[in-house]
Amino acid sequence: MTFQNIPGTFDILPDAYDAGGAMVYGSAAWRHVEATVRDVMRRFGFQEIRTPVFEPTDLVARGVGGTTDIVQKEMFAFTKGSTDYVLRPEITAPVMRSYLQHHLAQRGGTQKLYYIGPCFRAERPQRGRFRQFHQFGTETLGTDDPRADAETIACMVAVYDAFGITGTRLRINTLGDAESRPRYREALRAHLAPHADQLSETSRRRLDTNPLRILDTKSPDEQTLLEDAPLLIDYVDDASRAHYETVKALLTSLDIDFVEDPRLVRGLDYYTQTAFELESDDLGAQSALAGGGRYDGLAEAVGSKQAVPAVGFAAGFERLFLALEAQQVALPDRPDPAAFLVALGEEAERWVFAAAHRLRKAGLAVGLDVRGRSLKAQMKEANRQNARTAVIVGKDELAAQAAQVKDMETGEQCSVPFDELAEALKRSEV
Ligand code: AMP
Repeated sequence: MTFQNIPGTFDILPDAYDAGGAMVYGSAAWRHVEATVRDVMRRFGFQEIRTPVFEPTDLVARGVGGTTDIVQKEMFAFTKGSTDYVLRPEITAPVMRSYLQHHLAQRGGTQKLYYIGPCFRAERPQRGRFRQFHQFGTETLGTDDPRADAETIACMVAVYDAFGITGTRLRINTLGDAESRPRYREALRAHLAPHADQLSETSRRRLDTNPLRILDTKSPDEQTLLEDAPLLIDYVDDASRAHYETVKALLTSLDIDFVEDPRLVRGLDYYTQTAFELESDDLGAQSALAGGGRYDGLAEAVGSKQAVPAVGFAAGFERLFLALEAQQVALPDRPDPAAFLVALGEEAERWVFAAAHRLRKAGLAVGLDVRGRSLKAQMKEANRQNARTAVIVGKDELAAQAAQVKDMETGEQCSVPFDELAEALKRSEV
């Protein structure tokens, strides 16, 4: 019997491979993409935070919201002793927990944090939708200033710009303050209730629990029902409206294109005011590259006595890779060794084994054969590993204390004294 990875998860191998029609990038590509994300975060002044991959179930249930699909259907939850745990489905509630637990507010100013890490949701796997996926995102905690909203959006957009991804669409909306939403919720419910029999079972359930989610519907019939539905913006308080106007003006001043979408709501309950989503047509059904918004209600939802105004975005690496693939953005492959050491005969094998160690300690990436194979097999391996040079050592070279160094691209070969090898290889590495 052999084991397979769990559906909806994937391995990241040194090389890219094709998993049932989906390209899975190699670890070098992942490192590069992660490094680019980190560089954008650095430029925008976000500091990294890392939190555990599992959290108390209650934190997630309260933080994400009991009526959401995530909490109702998609949590990987388990119990140990008398405690319930959940593999984190997102990282905003954990960051808020950490912020409150470590009294980060007392460090003064706003906290600008970013994260990178795996998240878990028991969704039906499909293209761009996994059960273990990887998110990056920011959280700016401790300010209700609209500049923080605009900065968050600018940072999110800058990540995709950094890769040269084009053709994305930024949609924004305002959800108003904590009082606006219940008012709107009732208006929407009143509009849809007479047509309840035309709604899907899911939407009928949402009509009771969370009617705003019906606005997300993909069903054309339901979309028709929504055409003359009341609009959230008409139920939003004046202060939120002014906040929204400022965010839009700031985005315009940064030359960031957006479209207003009065039906944009986010799946998570703790959002207030600004909500946004970045989409790409390159992704197929799962068109959301990233999304976020302001969540001034989260801190209190997870037990804080004081409100903590905050704004952030979350993005998926897998969707970013889909966009990179669709736009044929070149990503690095596995790194090549600077040199591959080839030995002829037992004495040379011993010398080469020690020499590889010395060169590696000197900072060079060096390959060698550890199976005692023929010259031909070793040269083939040097080729397979894409080594830039092959360093060949046999009896004659040992006697002369100089190796044959062959440039694998040009085929040129020259003799290099053993004690100059490290320097010569370093020169060829660059
Ligand atoms: P959400 O918290 O649902 O708004 O998710 C934020 C971002 O994470 C989305 O825009 C996607 O890019 C990504 N994402 C969410 N769920 C999944 C999933 N199951 N598989 C892959 N990416 C996901």
